[in-house]
Amino acid sequence: MRLFQRTKSIGLLAAAVAATALVPLTAGAAEAAPSGYAGSCPTAGTITQGWHSGHDGIDIANNRGTPIHSTGPGTVIVSGTASGYGQWIRIRHDDGTVTEYGHMYERLVSANQRVTSGQLIARMGSEGQSTGPHLHFEAHSSTSSTRGMDPVPYLAERGVRLPCTPGSTSPGTNFTTWGTSVRVRSEASLSAAVVTTLTGPTPVYVKCQKRGDMVHAEGYSNDAWSYIPALGGYITNIYIDHPDAWLPGVNPC
Ligand SMILES: [Zn+2]
Repeated sequence: MRLFQRTKSIGLLAAAVAATALVPLTAGAAEAAPSGYAGSCPTAGTITQGWHSGHDGIDIANNRGTPIHSTGPGTVIVSGTASGYGQWIRIRHDDGTVTEYGHMYERLVSANQRVTSGQLIARMGSEGQSTGPHLHFEAHSSTSSTRGMDPVPYLAERGVRLPCTPGSTSPGTNFTTWGTSVRVRSEASLSAAVVTTLTGPTPVYVKCQKRGDMVHAEGYSNDAWSYIPALGGYITNIYIDHPDAWLPGVNPC
């Protein structure tokens, strides 16, 4: 059972005390739907139009031929011509979400093809209703979604901050936070500024971890903090949903 696998505490007594108190929070974390993937930058360029009521995605402009990459692992569900787009590609990712790419002059993948995160899928163009070379990028919650969601937080949740550079280092290792009102701070210190607060379990990509202020919370004590680039700060490892106090496979900052 997940609850008793938590051994973040340096003191066993504290862990034992916490075990009972944590039941409701742990149950909540377990119910959170799995989401997210290790995201990759779709393309380099300038954001010339954001997501708004009349525009279902974002436009990233650059030179004709600029490489376009899949933002995550998945399966190509559409690759072909479409009115308005000229040409388009849709990819269904492993978390059920769908990304959509339009206006390219060259497509390099076909329907039913499996792609990896960051795989080159197309080259930027100005096909269809377009005034210059750019990528029109959309993110949908599922294949049945008819309205795209804002791609900026969608990508941020997957470790990609726009504008971005394809092929830059991986966004980190995927974990989920637990607990409520979890503060993200600008440094691994309790006196550092709070940059944002997580209201509930949140998928995050941890880039690196380091020792900082000792934190005592929820019956645990831990001085390790995780850096989450997409959130621009650190959270104590106490709120990373993993049994180890020092996360395995995550480099020191
Ligand atoms: Zn557009």
